[in-house]
Amino acid sequence: AQLANQIAAGEVVERPASVVKELVENCLDAGASRVDVEIERGGSKRILVRDNGLGIAREELALALSRHATSKVASLEDLESILSFGFRGEALASISSVSRLTLTSKTQEQPEAWQAYAEGQEMAVKVQPAAHPVGTTVLAEDLFFNTPARRRFLRADKTEFNHIDEQLRRIALAKPAIHFTLSHNGKLVRQYRAARTDKQHQQRLGAICSHRFAEAAVTLSTGNEQLQLHGCLAIGDGHQGFSEVQYFYVNGRVVRDRLVNHALRQALEMHGQSSDAGYVLHLDLPPQEVDVNVHPAKHEVRFHQARYVHDFILQGLSDAVSQLAGSEMPDIDV
Ligand code: ADP
Ligand code: MG
Repeated sequence: AQLANQIAAGEVVERPASVVKELVENCLDAGASRVDVEIERGGSKRILVRDNGLGIAREELALALSRHATSKVASLEDLESILSFGFRGEALASISSVSRLTLTSKTQEQPEAWQAYAEGQEMAVKVQPAAHPVGTTVLAEDLFFNTPARRRFLRADKTEFNHIDEQLRRIALAKPAIHFTLSHNGKLVRQYRAARTDKQHQQRLGAICSHRFAEAAVTLSTGNEQLQLHGCLAIGDGHQGFSEVQYFYVNGRVVRDRLVNHALRQALEMHGQSSDAGYVLHLDLPPQEVDVNVHPAKHEVRFHQARYVHDFILQGLSDAVSQLAGSEMPDIDV
């Protein structure tokens, strides 16, 4: 079981940022309205994720850590041959197999909190009383301490932290109602406050993507009963561009897809605008209209009606670009 977990960990736990992604997604699944992420030394020393969600009941704590015990694979040599495995439901088990993991949680119904602890080789899980408000804290320490080959693949702390920062940015852009904080080595680095009003959304966008982007961007929102597109777009001024801000979400998941960049290039060309544009775009469509690659590390999609989706996005972007181009005209005339 331990070996299988370590193999699964290779898929789910590529680096500290992938641990953060899995843990934060669990917080969202638990209905949290606040998520705090504390990192030490780029995540190699310590990754702590705390939420105020539903919590995990005492009798499910150990299960959450040690589930999916399987002995399908006899040795680490077989690792290469099972890369097509499905690893859903194995994040915590995987992370606990390559770190020192502590899970502390309290549900609304329970009078007190409980803590479960699992360490590397021995999957024996100990459960003891603890102090914790309603919600869950997952602490993963000494990542890859028992898989030296993987530990050697970790980059400089700053590089790993930048990946974590980017991971949280992606999630925060998709979940404006959730308050996120991120700290590194005891210092608060990011604070994304929950946003409800337009002004709060603007401030949050600035905090996540840069205030320069938030100020330059126009919002767009368009749709029919099948497709909805909303988000914002900014065009560079010739000196400074925004190509570092390019986020495309399909049904709430970040994806990499050439379609949106193609549509953007076309929209910009149509209006004779600079190609240095940045965007945060959310596309929503019926799930049966899109295939999402199941590989946890990839973020690819295939639209069944790619042409139609492309033209729909092009229309939305073109309107936004003409709005931006139009609003720039008075400045040029003066
Ligand atoms: P999955 O999310 O795919 O079910 P995980 O290994 O990520 O698998 O989590 C295992 C289980 O532990 C979850 O199904 C959930 O019941 C519980 N869990 C994990 N993290 C949290 C959390 N932050 N809050 C509440 N429950 C959690
Ligand atoms: Mg999960």
